Amino acid sequence: MANIDDILRRLIRPEVQALKSYHVPDARGLIKLDAMESPYPWPESLKPAWLERLRALDVNRYPDPSARQLKARLREALAVPAAADILLGNGSDELIQMIVMALARPDAVVLAPVPTFVMYEQIAIACGVRFVGVPLAADFGLDRAAMLAAVAAHRPAVIFLSYPNNPTGNLFDARAMEALLEASPGLVVVDEAYHAFARASFMDRLARYPNLLVMRTLSKQGLAGLRLGILIGAPAALGEFDKVRLPYNINSLTQASAEFALAQDETFAGQCREITGERERLYEALRQVPGVEAWPSRTNFLLFRVSGGRAAEVHAALRDDGILIKNLDGAGGVLRGCLRVTVGTPDENRAFLAALQKACGGRAVG
Ligand SMILES: *Cc1c(COP(=O)(O)O)cnc(C)c1O
Repeated sequence: MANIDDILRRLIRPEVQALKSYHVPDARGLIKLDAMESPYPWPESLKPAWLERLRALDVNRYPDPSARQLKARLREALAVPAAADILLGNGSDELIQMIVMALARPDAVVLAPVPTFVMYEQIAIACGVRFVGVPLAADFGLDRAAMLAAVAAHRPAVIFLSYPNNPTGNLFDARAMEALLEASPGLVVVDEAYHAFARASFMDRLARYPNLLVMRTLSKQGLAGLRLGILIGAPAALGEFDKVRLPYNINSLTQASAEFALAQDETFAGQCREITGERERLYEALRQVPGVEAWPSRTNFLLFRVSGGRAAEVHAALRDDGILIKNLDGAGGVLRGCLRVTVGTPDENRAFLAALQKACGGRAVG
């Protein structure tokens, strides 16, 4: 008998062997500002009615495989155009996976500007599809000429555009995106994960561009634990992706909870407005910290750079002070020296700023 390591080296695809599992750091006991979650739990006043809904579920039965009621609610809440359909995923991560899986012909290419949301590349690799990343311009905008050249050279099966972009926080120029929609022989997914904070959308362009797909998620606005991603586009395209969807991907607790939450829209919209206001206060405060360069954001996070090659040191100092943010320095390129902080409650943001000031105040750390 060969040993298991030899067997795996022989059997697992080399590109999968080279991948690393998506790392989620342990946040126990820390103020968690690393993953763009909402800092607000559901109000206690909503919980009895919500739990009543859950009590009525028969979890011995499979969920509705097509989540008909939830889709009807979403159609209304998101103002989905009548000619478009909705496909649901276990988070938008799963939708990205369905799209790439369906398009994974041997010569297929997934294209995106970089840096961007890492799952586009991670999923492409996992599906055995080549990923081409086109560097963003220095101001984090799309490099229109380079993107168009890459489209001509690689004829990508799909382009992913994070709108606004994670981790840079900006909205790309809509006209440059339209140029890509027009030039691309393949599909273009506009990932609007931060729509609740950005208030900008390509939804009304669905009628004009048959190759456009708009993606949303409930994760960034208080429902990350439910895992619900929403893809909107031409019924024919979604019909193909639906064939690679696992039959019961949206569980019954999520279906009932999301339906309930959508009926409480004012609560969640109010929280998003508060976070947007806090984001602006936090941005202004960040810019005043010595040695920190911060960028404006249309999301619920802020990207900033610390000078002097101290990103890892500052990140560790914050953690020692009980605050977890994301260190992006390792990605290199335009992200060298960069950290990303999710906007929290006013108290959490104050604690973060105090710790950052301490870490950047010239005091030796560690
Ligand atoms: C967070 C994020 C997602 C993931 O959303 P889920 O619905 O939680 O899987 C997708 N796209 C972008 C750009 C994100 O930042």
